[in-house]
Amino acid sequence: MTLFEKIAAREIPAKIVYETDDVIAFRDISPQAPTHVLVCPKLALPKLSDASAEHTELLGKCLLAVAEVARREGLVDYRVAINNGAGAGQSVFHLHMHVLGGRTLSWPPG
Ligand code: 5GP
Repeated sequence: MTLFEKIAAREIPAKIVYETDDVIAFRDISPQAPTHVLVCPKLALPKLSDASAEHTELLGKCLLAVAEVARREGLVDYRVAINNGAGAGQSVFHLHMHVLGGRTLSWPPG
């Protein structure tokens, strides 16, 4: 089981902010902004690059969950980020989207 599967199964505690049958969202343990939520499919795809056409609906549900989380958090401007691979900063190999907001976010991220 991945770390995020264990969170979804309530084997590891997390501050869950949103959940559907397919998607779970919880606060990052090391927040990089006043709001930092991770949105992930319950299906443990390791990386975005492992997704294929069969995951189209699931990925759409993840993006809609991102927007719903942002609404619930009262965010108007926010960033959605996916780190794909260790060289891009990915450390947990269960696909997830970072939702960051509540402060000014510079671009490019560095
Ligand atoms: P990545 O680096 O893979 O894009 O993002 C993984 C994120 O998971 C990091 O921002 C990290 O702080 C967060 N994280 C790692 N372990 C835990 C944990 O046990 N609980 C929660 N809520 N977040 C975690």
